[in-house]
Amino acid sequence: MRLLLVEDEKDLCAIIKQGLEEEGYIVEIAHDGEEGLYMAGNFPVDAIILDIMLPFMDGLTILSTIRKKGITTPVLLLTARDAIVDKIAGLDTGADDYLTKPFAFTELLARIRSLLRRKGTVKEAVIVIGDLEINTASHEVKRGEQAINLSAKEYALLEYLAYNKNKVVSRTDIVEHIYHEETDMDSNVVDVYINYLRNKIDKDCHTKLIQTIRGAGYMLKG
Ligand code: CA
Repeated sequence: MRLLLVEDEKDLCAIIKQGLEEEGYIVEIAHDGEEGLYMAGNFPVDAIILDIMLPFMDGLTILSTIRKKGITTPVLLLTARDAIVDKIAGLDTGADDYLTKPFAFTELLARIRSLLRRKGTVKEAVIVIGDLEINTASHEVKRGEQAINLSAKEYALLEYLAYNKNKVVSRTDIVEHIYHEETDMDSNVVDVYINYLRNKIDKDCHTKLIQTIRGAGYMLKG
C-alpha cells in the first residue's frame, strides 16, 4: 500500500517513514503544504497522513481542496495536543480520522490499517479468502493450518490483492501501490512476485486462489 505523508518536521517525518517502510508500506513525502496538495492531487495513494500546521498551506486547506476536487482518499490528520477546534474542523472538512501528537507509533499503524479497511470492502483486521488468512496487524499468513513465511515484498503484494479480493487488479495498479516510483513499469517484476506467491500459497493446494485474468491482471478469489 502506498501512503502520502505530509509533515514539515523533518526528523519526525524520517522516523515515521522508516517505521512505515519496515511495515512494508511505500511512503511518499511532502514537507510543505503546497507540495502536499500537489502530490495528493496527482499521485495515486491509498491513504494520506496529513499534518495540520504546515508552511505555505495548512492541512485543513489541503483537505478541503482535495475533497472539493472529488478525491476521496482516506485522510488521517495529525493535530497538536488539545487542539479541539482543529479536530472538529478536520472531521467537518472530510478527514476520516485524526491522531494527536505526540502519538505511539503502534497507534499510528492501527489507524492506518483501519483507514485502509474503510476504503475497501474488507472490514476486519484478519482478511479471510477461502482457507487463506492474512492478519494485517501481525502480517501472519496461514493457509489452512499451515503458516506461510513471506518476504516483505511478497507480503505487500498479497495484502494488496487481499484488500481488493474478488476484484481484478492490473499490473499497473500493483506497481503503483506497492513499488517505488523508480520501478520500471515494463519489467516483469510483478509476474515474478506473483510466481513467488503462487509457489508459497497455491502450489500444494487443490483450490488456486491467485488467478490470472488474461489481458487484465490478477485476482485473489475465494
Ligand atoms: Ca507541522
